[in-house]
Amino acid sequence: MTTIIDGDRIAGEIRGALEESIGALADHGVTPGLATVLVGDDPASQTYVNMKQRDCEEVGINGIHVDIDGDASPEELYDTIEELNADPEVHGYLVQDPVPEQIDYREVLRRIDPAKDADGFHPENVGRLVAGNARFKPCTPHGIQKLFSEYDIETEGADVTVVGRSDIVGKPMANLLMQKSQGGNATVTVCHSRTENLAEKTRRADVVIAACGVTELIDGSMISEGATVIDVGISRVETDSEKGYELVGDVDFESAKEKAGAITPVPGGVGPMTRAMLLYNTVKAASESEGVPVELP
Ligand code: NDP
Repeated sequence: MTTIIDGDRIAGEIRGALEESIGALADHGVTPGLATVLVGDDPASQTYVNMKQRDCEEVGINGIHVDIDGDASPEELYDTIEELNADPEVHGYLVQDPVPEQIDYREVLRRIDPAKDADGFHPENVGRLVAGNARFKPCTPHGIQKLFSEYDIETEGADVTVVGRSDIVGKPMANLLMQKSQGGNATVTVCHSRTENLAEKTRRADVVIAACGVTELIDGSMISEGATVIDVGISRVETDSEKGYELVGDVDFESAKEKAGAITPVPGGVGPMTRAMLLYNTVKAASESEGVPVELP
């Protein structure tokens, strides 16, 4: 029997536990604050920030949103960043990527106060993660680690193949998996668009993590019997349905399910975990910056 990993359920449990942490902070007069900054009006980015704001409202985080004109100069955005760095009500924030071409996203990340870096993308936080001393783990890899622990999927000694080497998913995922700690100790292979014989690398893995943004790239023939398959990909594919599109992952779910021991669906797998871990990072930032220790899930 293949286990369908229920990200919605686990994310719901994490959010429930976070509500308790938020209650404990409230007892000390602290309300965690998360700000989102959107430069321009990219519809997908708008949807993402709306979801983040709704999540905040649901768990009792003070959500603050800043819209910046798509033609804004880098300096205008830097001014906002300085204001957010200085604002005591904002414990964590993020600038939604992608940003318009006149803005250098790396420079944006560098200017964010690392203690308020809710995504965990500031170079200082990247360095800390690589050194095994993470302050904020990036949300998607952190969420995947939580799924492993909830479903007793052992990474120690496992061969894990990560397909994708982006700064937000592939690289931090590989780093966390190779660390000498709980949820790590795996032997990691990282694949990308120049990898030759991808199927050979995925077939020998106990765990395959697909994060390449290529619709249904990984199918059942590319995984070994009983492997765990984590599908990070989210692509909108146009359909005749009422919505006009459906969300599709990087894994061909139907054929992969026949071989996998455990698999995440799209939607309802990794996506809700990413959202929950952003709330986690916000509560952690509030607890640490206000000096009020609380239990985190
Ligand atoms: P990027 O586009 O930044 O990175 C994609 C990576 O996949 C790159 O390293 C690229 O290689 C590699 N790649 C591309 N094509 C292939 C191929 N044919 N074979 C092997 N590797 C390939 O994407 P992200 O990491 O930001 O996102 C990946 C997917 O995950 C997207 O669908 C995105 O929407 C989704 N996503 C989902 C989240 C969630 O919460 N579920 C969160 C974040 C992202 P190279 O480096 O050589 O270009």
